[in-house]
Amino acid sequence: MYWHNSYSQPFLKLYRKAANMKKKQYQHRLTKRFDYDDFNDFHHKDLNRFMQNPSMQICPCNPQNLLTTCCGIYHAGEPAHNAEKLMRSRYSAYALGLIDYLVATTLPAQQQRLDQEGIRTWSTQSIWLGLEVKDFEEFVDKIHATVTFVAKWKDAQGEHQHLEKSGFVKIKDRWYFLDPTAPLNLGRNDPCPCGNGAKFKKCCSTWIA
Ligand SMILES: [Zn+2]
Ligand SMILES: [Zn+2]
Repeated sequence: MYWHNSYSQPFLKLYRKAANMKKKQYQHRLTKRFDYDDFNDFHHKDLNRFMQNPSMQICPCNPQNLLTTCCGIYHAGEPAHNAEKLMRSRYSAYALGLIDYLVATTLPAQQQRLDQEGIRTWSTQSIWLGLEVKDFEEFVDKIHATVTFVAKWKDAQGEHQHLEKSGFVKIKDRWYFLDPTAPLNLGRNDPCPCGNGAKFKKCCSTWIA
């Protein structure tokens, strides 16, 4: 990984310890059984230094990664390199409450139809437990890809997991999520809203009800 070049080995050791502590803290938050004895092998001062530094934040999509070198890149505006990375960054956006990012990465023609308040409530009133990407079909055709994943979260009703095969379309070198919950009421022969020039039925309709 490229951050080996920029950080020293002692730093990495310290970082991994902090990451483990953060994971433990997170699990304790879920069970509400926080045990300060877990801190025994780690110096409080060091831990706080890491916790308070936003660049040390663990990426919600993968606890092995730092946010700044994983989904944070895309949250900051860089186009996701492929649909799987976009999907991951959208999961992380749910976990971090980045509603604008969720809107901006949905097919532009669907953005006005999204229930933003519903998304915000789901995002902020859930504890996001993790993401597992099961399958990534990068080339369904020239501009479409699918990602099959399981997302896990917890809310007042308990723990949930959701298996989904999501569709994505590439428009001018940016990937967008095709949201099946925001139908567009288009005819099958209408031009596809992705702007590809094809009829809707031959383009994005598979993923938009
Ligand atoms: Zn990530
Ligand atoms: Zn299309």
